Amino acid sequence: MPKPSLRSRSLRRVFRKVPGNRVSLQYKKKKPKSARCGGCGAVLKGVPRELPFRMRNMAKTKKRPERPFGGVLCSRCMRQQIVSKIR
Ligand SMILES: [Zn+2]
Repeated sequence: MPKPSLRSRSLRRVFRKVPGNRVSLQYKKKKPKSARCGGCGAVLKGVPRELPFRMRNMAKTKKRPERPFGGVLCSRCMRQQIVSKIR
C-alpha cells in the first residue's frame, strides 16, 4: 500500500521500466488542461500542454504560434477578428 499522500488520484500513476528489467510505479503530477481559443473554445494547436516549470524553460517561440493573437485565438477566429476590425 502506498503512503497516504499517494493514495489520492490528484497524482497520475506512471509505470516506468527501471534497470534490472523491473517495472516500478511512479507518481507524477498531472498535466494542465490544453489551451483553448478565446473565441470559439477550440483546442489551440501549437501550444504545448506542459507543467509550468517546463513551460518556463521553454523558448517563447515554442510556446505559441508566431502570428497575431497566437496562443489566444485559433487561426479562424483570428482571421474573423482582423477582417471585422478592418471593415
Ligand atoms: Zn476560435
